[in-house]
Amino acid sequence: MSTKNEYDCAKCPGYCCSYPHIEVTREDISGLAKHFGLDYKTAETRFTKYDKDEKARGLRHRKNEHFGSACGFFDAEKRRCTVYEVRPEACRDYPYGKSCGYYQFLSWERKHQENKTWIALTNK
Ligand code: SF4
Ligand code: SF4
Repeated sequence: MSTKNEYDCAKCPGYCCSYPHIEVTREDISGLAKHFGLDYKTAETRFTKYDKDEKARGLRHRKNEHFGSACGFFDAEKRRCTVYEVRPEACRDYPYGKSCGYYQFLSWERKHQENKTWIALTNK
């Protein structure tokens, strides 16, 4: 059985970073605090917010022209994570297997648009 991933993040505009609730653990916040030379509380307030519906803290978002909003650590120009070495566990684990639903959606759109660089939007 093949163990090769069926997705390629290098060819994707970074849909997963636009997911509305990207949960963070205390360890994630500690890692971000250390990375930026901040104390825990400052990092928690600056980078995360409590989501009442999810009953958990998640990464703060900022506006993104393609996605509506995306994680505050997402570089919209380069389309990559600016804190890759200390990204939260949820980011490291995603997409939890060999395939990625976002990438399947993107591949389907590119095939049907007959355009290998097509960027399908998620906020329309
Ligand atoms: S949405 Fe999937 S393919 Fe795109 S960057 Fe995230 S994990 Fe990679
Ligand atoms: S921390 Fe990095 S990988 Fe995680 S959502 Fe933000 S930009 Fe994406």
